[in-house]
Amino acid sequence: MVRAIVGANWGDEGKGKITDMLAQESDIVVRFQGGANAGHTIINQYGKFALHLLPSGVCHQHVVNVIGPGVALDIEALLNEIKTITDRGLPQPKLLISDRAQVLMEYHVAFDCYEEERLGKASFGSTKSGIAPFYGDKYMKIGVQLCQMLDKEILHARLENAARLKNAMLENLYHKPLMDVDQLTEKYYALAQQIKPMICDVAQYLHRAVKENKRILLEGQLGTLRDPDHGIFPFTTSSSPLAGFGMVGAGLPPTAFEQVIAVTKAYSSCVGAGPFTTELFGDEAEELRKRGGDAGEYGAKTGRPRRVGWFDAVATRYGCMMQGATDCVMTNLDVLGYLDEIKVCVAYEIDGQEVRDFPVTPLVEKAKPRYVTLPGWKQDIRGITRYEDLPEKCRQYVEFIEKEIDCPLTMLSNGPKREEIIYR
Ligand code: GDP
Repeated sequence: MVRAIVGANWGDEGKGKITDMLAQESDIVVRFQGGANAGHTIINQYGKFALHLLPSGVCHQHVVNVIGPGVALDIEALLNEIKTITDRGLPQPKLLISDRAQVLMEYHVAFDCYEEERLGKASFGSTKSGIAPFYGDKYMKIGVQLCQMLDKEILHARLENAARLKNAMLENLYHKPLMDVDQLTEKYYALAQQIKPMICDVAQYLHRAVKENKRILLEGQLGTLRDPDHGIFPFTTSSSPLAGFGMVGAGLPPTAFEQVIAVTKAYSSCVGAGPFTTELFGDEAEELRKRGGDAGEYGAKTGRPRRVGWFDAVATRYGCMMQGATDCVMTNLDVLGYLDEIKVCVAYEIDGQEVRDFPVTPLVEKAKPRYVTLPGWKQDIRGITRYEDLPEKCRQYVEFIEKEIDCPLTMLSNGPKREEIIYR
């Protein structure tokens, strides 16, 4: 049985908690895209963890965690993350890493920084983790697969090949120090040796697991609106956060899906640049930002204040549709308990026309939100475990949104802790 947990919006929907919860009932948890550029927040008996590259199953000893070939593998970040969690009392995670995964190098991080510097005010707000240069190299075919790092000669040749192009850019465009191929070869050969026992043919392993009816959970990073094809281009990430890509990035047959769970928040939040139709500003935004999540809406990776706004049903309906969601989970419902009234954006107004289908970027940039205002429930709902026990106005809010996004809201999260969940 394969299921996926993916984001319906801009990322940071609270996927970490839901994945951690469902990991408990899974045998295998797989990361299929992205790198150490985002962060899942997980809170359990060991404390609070921000996971960037490790699959969220690492907190459960029975789970085998897999890093698929679609991931941008930053070996140093991975080793640091393993050390951080084991230092804090978690057992050594069971981890398998695809021999086909490509490695995110120090020069990808450097290029990410240089490019943001070059773009200046026009920058996209990159997390500077090297993700765009990494995927650029992958599709330019100048990346390095992990299997190629286990042989010094092959590694050296691959790096030399990349350096020819990269050094031209470093010298003439960015005016920065050049790549030192010999030094990089030594460094990455040694790093690959450190993770060698975990490297394997992940696709064979996962196909076998499907045949054996193992419970496999694919864990997406970011959300639909960051997809390079279907998101708000160019304010997108460089790999697909869609469940549809999950099978490719993991190495699984596309027919194996049983369930796709899209995660959304009870309000909207977004890190980085780009159009964000329901954005709030000033005191209203500050209040929501302060109350959001488990410690305010600040990036798990960057600490940057997240942009916050009202629930955007246009974007989320599209987000669930493109994920092929069978179920939707709404997180952070408890956060809204302080509001007298709550707005939900049900349509956009673009050039005087009402638009209900999420459009292309030049049109989203012009969109104004059309809101429906619902009454707030003015109550702390943390601790409630049964849907019937939620205040009526809270249920009204949930049911209104469920209808708008056209996807069953089967779980409601009313607090950051694992057990703070309401099944419907
Ligand atoms: P992810 O990238 O989708 O995993 O999202 P993050 O985990 O970075 O962000 C979600 C934030 O919301 C984190 O601070 C979580 O601890 C927190 N969180 C998740 N679910 C809930 C919830 O139902 N209520 C509250 N108050 N916080 C939540």
